[in-house]
Amino acid sequence: MNSRLPALLFLPLLALSGCYTVPETGRKSLVLVSPAEEAQLGAQSFAELRSKERISNDPVHVERVRRVGGRIATAVGDDLPSARWEFAVFESPDVNAFALPGGKVGVYTGLLRLAESDDELATVIGHEIAHVTARHGAERMSEAAVLGAVGAAGTAYAGNRFGSDKAQAFAAAYGAGATLFRVLPHSRSNESEADYIGMRYAARAGYDPRAAITFWQKMARQKQQAGGGATPVFLSTHPSDTQRIADLQQQVPEVMPLYEEASRRMQRSVIGAEGEAPAIGGPPVIGRDPVIGTDPRRD
Ligand SMILES: [Zn+2]
Repeated sequence: MNSRLPALLFLPLLALSGCYTVPETGRKSLVLVSPAEEAQLGAQSFAELRSKERISNDPVHVERVRRVGGRIATAVGDDLPSARWEFAVFESPDVNAFALPGGKVGVYTGLLRLAESDDELATVIGHEIAHVTARHGAERMSEAAVLGAVGAAGTAYAGNRFGSDKAQAFAAAYGAGATLFRVLPHSRSNESEADYIGMRYAARAGYDPRAAITFWQKMARQKQQAGGGATPVFLSTHPSDTQRIADLQQQVPEVMPLYEEASRRMQRSVIGAEGEAPAIGGPPVIGRDPVIGTDPRRD
């Protein structure tokens, strides 16, 4: 495609092709990238991060992220139809975690220490995956592309929409790879939507949604302790505040029935499958090519 064609020529086409309905909330958003392209860029950034960051082989950390992440991946189900789930633990004191399109999730050991319970870890992983299923990064990139195109009609658009390195731009838009790339903070509305969706995923996976409140209270304390010093990476992309905690407190009663139902279901499957693989804390089914640990379907 001729990249010199006036960008405005593309806009009607883009407007037609780019409407996305966010799962769980039903919000309509404008996303000009196909899920397949997003998944491919996510996989590319993830591979880069895995090759450059220090991967943890601590079996306790690895097993924990695999267990919690796997259950959330199952709860996400068709909200991310293109997912090929991979979970990685990065060895770093940074309080940080991210998810990328295609179902690529990274958690730093610094965050694992802060999120003491699996319920709290589920809050973080659920929240990060929610940014992906809601396609927040792609939405932001699309907004930037449209604004750029409108502001400078005639500049290159097609063929090179997002600059010279799209994969890096996507990683930045999803807040991934802070040590390698310049990451962008999520907007307040994206944060709020990811909190809500993530809490639903965690609850459906059988994790207590009330842990979202205790986790973000901890993050708020971290922020205070950081004072004028370096803010933890996760907080530079995920600002915590009293409004967020108040919103979560309001949403918990709505989400609790999902958690109670999931707990009952897991209880029944434990009783029904006595002697077989337990459903609670058991090996999760996490898609086709898990990268960390052993095959999750194996006992
Ligand atoms: Zn977020």
